[in-house]
Amino acid sequence: MYTITGVVTATAGVQSPLTKSETQVRQPPDSVHIIVVYDNNQYAPTLRTGWGLAVLVVSHGSVALFDTGADGPTLLANMRALSIDPRLIDAVVLSHAHSDHTGGLDGLLDTGIRPTVYLLPSFPEDFKRHLRSRVPVVETEGGQEVLAGVSTTGDLDGGIREQALVVETARGLVVVTGCAHPGVARMVARVVSRRTEPVHLVLGGFHLRDATPDQIQAIITEFRRLGVERVAPCHCTGDRAIEMFAAEYGEDFLRAGVGTTIVVGAVPSGAR
Ligand SMILES: [Zn+2]
Ligand SMILES: [Zn+2]
Repeated sequence: MYTITGVVTATAGVQSPLTKSETQVRQPPDSVHIIVVYDNNQYAPTLRTGWGLAVLVVSHGSVALFDTGADGPTLLANMRALSIDPRLIDAVVLSHAHSDHTGGLDGLLDTGIRPTVYLLPSFPEDFKRHLRSRVPVVETEGGQEVLAGVSTTGDLDGGIREQALVVETARGLVVVTGCAHPGVARMVARVVSRRTEPVHLVLGGFHLRDATPDQIQAIITEFRRLGVERVAPCHCTGDRAIEMFAAEYGEDFLRAGVGTTIVVGAVPSGAR
């Protein structure tokens, strides 16, 4: 179990010894930190839960926030409890336009930070217009790198258009999904079709709350076929799917909720 003190240590990794020129060599960083800062599942007992998702990724000394949860006060309170200074955030990536993923953004920007925000062209025009008045906004239609070693899948259609985050690590790729409306296996398959590295971990909302056991099993089978090594389902995955993934993946299942910190390094990684 990762203690709050441990997370403070983890965020110290933000002061990476890597220089900007070294990051351009594109070796995977020694370690990548992934911290769930907003989720409806409890993990660290002192943090607040709320329906939604926000995940912080620290890589190559840069910080990306993937989604922002549903409200600023909860997001900011959790970041404060984890000793994460909002000013460390270089980029915000929004998976899709639902408010449980975008609702914390205004509160975050009210702290005075001005990160570049990456979103999809399909986001509502008034949302984009409002955001452009506050920060630089980039529309990521086909997928693109947002920070060294951190990129988006580009949008997939599933009724609701959505993108996932892809993070390079020494052990393979980490895919972070928001709600996975286009289908979590489809989103991972897109990554596998474009990249040569193995998928080390898939973390985030798998959107299987209403799925039958057979449907969930089909997703698990597809994950195995795609070579997904570890899973950390949370947010909208649903309790039944979470337990089925836990049974299938055993030690490679990571219990995820608000406060979960995963350090992926060259040595065997683990949830702490
Ligand atoms: Zn959604
Ligand atoms: Zn959601």
